[in-house]
Amino acid sequence: MKVEIIKCLQDNYSYLIINEKNQNACVIDPSEAKPIIDFVEKKNINLKFILNTHHHYDHIGGNNELKKKYGVKIVGFINDKDKIPKIDIFVENNQTWMNEDFQAKIIHIPGHTLGHICFYFSKDKIAFTGDTLFSLGCGRIFEGTYEQMFASLNKLKKLPIDTKIYCGHEYTLKNSMFCLQYEKNNKNLEKKIFEIKDKLKNNLPTLPSTIGEELACNIFLRAKNLEDFSKLRDLKDNF
Ligand code: ZN
Ligand code: FE
Repeated sequence: MKVEIIKCLQDNYSYLIINEKNQNACVIDPSEAKPIIDFVEKKNINLKFILNTHHHYDHIGGNNELKKKYGVKIVGFINDKDKIPKIDIFVENNQTWMNEDFQAKIIHIPGHTLGHICFYFSKDKIAFTGDTLFSLGCGRIFEGTYEQMFASLNKLKKLPIDTKIYCGHEYTLKNSMFCLQYEKNNKNLEKKIFEIKDKLKNNLPTLPSTIGEELACNIFLRAKNLEDFSKLRDLKDNF
């Protein structure tokens, strides 16, 4: 299985997961159709599924056009069936969604939205965390509560430390400045910031990160309790 990162809109990332045996693929959170179509056509990829982590427009904006053009099936959380138009396949928390090409565990991670999910491809240890866990940050709490977001991040923290994290936005550098402000002596963070800047300088995505790196550097995963987490989340909203 191969993951391709496709830049969309201002700072969104969509991802293609490709079965290299037959070029069958899923797209995660297509913000817009055009960059996905360009890639798919150029590389002769058979797009089969759209996997949506949540209902925000910058994650589903390309759904309709891709569905029309390729007849792909849209996979989304069961409780989002009225928020994500034309879902074909409903998935639930802890379910394993599978077919002949792909297998992903669904982890319900509410907070940013109530129906937010993570697609965890356990065989390859790859997690698509949408707008819940960012590299060095976490999503804003729009629909859920602090408790829900804190619990959702705790679920993700339990994934194997070498799990690769692919999230919905390129926010890593800005996030790193917030982490640094509150953890000035974190050597791991210092090292990660150096790597981030190097990647960005070369016009490369800062992703994937790993659970291990996030545990070492992401202040939201390092918060000891709900109270600390909530304070940090409020501070970040005004950062
Ligand atoms: Zn969002
Ligand atoms: Fe987003």
